[in-house]
Amino acid sequence: MDGHQECSLLERLIEYRRELHEHPELSFKEYETAERIRAWLKEAGIPVVDSEIETAVIAEITGNQEGPTIALRADIDALPINEETGLPFASKREGVMHACGHDFHTAAMIGAAILLHAKKDKLKGKVLILFQPAEEIAQGAVALEKAGVLQDVEAIFGMHNKPDLPVGTIGVREGSLMASVDRFELDVYGIGGHAGIPDNTIDPIVVAGQIIVALQSIVSRNISSFHNAVISITQIHGGNTWNVIPGKVTMEGTVRTFQNEARELIPQLMKRTAEGIAAGFAARADFRWHPYLPVVNNDARFTEVIKEAAQNLDYTFVEAEQSPAGEDFAFYQTKIPGFFVWIGVGGEFDWHHPRYDLNEEALEVAANYFAELAMVYLENHE
Ligand SMILES: [Zn+2]
Ligand SMILES: [Zn+2]
Repeated sequence: MDGHQECSLLERLIEYRRELHEHPELSFKEYETAERIRAWLKEAGIPVVDSEIETAVIAEITGNQEGPTIALRADIDALPINEETGLPFASKREGVMHACGHDFHTAAMIGAAILLHAKKDKLKGKVLILFQPAEEIAQGAVALEKAGVLQDVEAIFGMHNKPDLPVGTIGVREGSLMASVDRFELDVYGIGGHAGIPDNTIDPIVVAGQIIVALQSIVSRNISSFHNAVISITQIHGGNTWNVIPGKVTMEGTVRTFQNEARELIPQLMKRTAEGIAAGFAARADFRWHPYLPVVNNDARFTEVIKEAAQNLDYTFVEAEQSPAGEDFAFYQTKIPGFFVWIGVGGEFDWHHPRYDLNEEALEVAANYFAELAMVYLENHE
């Protein structure tokens, strides 16, 4: 591709990104966004496959040569944040902002689609590009998977922009990249009564206190020193006056970890600990686990192809730092192998900040990178 065409691709992607940025839409409400994506793909002559999800768009690029199917994924939703960037193309919708850069992901993946479409002759297989809704509420990936989108897909690749990495940098890490995020509720039932006559009660506040302390021992005593996890109790309610022992205490909190093994183990131990301690006091504990997001877990088999694509384009790859944030790309990885990378965008403020912004030159980097990655992967996996 000559310099002029490269320049016009960047200009085009900047235009797309700004248009999306001005018109952000919340999770599962991405109607206009999906319409825009469809129109841009149509303009580029790229076919779109139907899915059952109204605000999802799936582009399909079928190579002229036989081969497997892979997927590239961009998330498209925005956040309930009031933008404070003062940019000329700032959000026109009060209280809604593309503060996680999903406008960037969307525009960049359209760029990858355009590039791949132009290389169809050499493409050995099929590339699906998933423009996925509702990442911010961790429901979009599950919805697409349930709609059968991954049926023939053998590998999936995705990205998140990373403001603290410079443009032209790809952050790569095998194994866990982003944390699991889960919620739990824990109720302790005792027998309430007169605060001056505790021997006639089973005090759930005292039991809850024992449970809280014991739960904190799980990370230090049951999780391998090579692993890590956080158990945080973030709400506790019990009683409503000074001279009555209540009958019940309720608690809520979250667990974060970077290992799926730890993620499976921790709720079992929490339940056992809470129920065991409660039983020791003749009380009862009811532990409820609400799975939210698994670990973003990058398949080591793809590390070579991930790096090769960066090298072919002279992009710098760096060892990616893990993020304690969650990402619903993780759901795809529970079904098929995948790899998620950081794309450097050189911004001043981090994700979800009202002044979050990025260097738009990274649009072309991401577009080139994902097109190259798809080409290299399909070249090597006939
Ligand atoms: Zn986000
Ligand atoms: Zn995001």
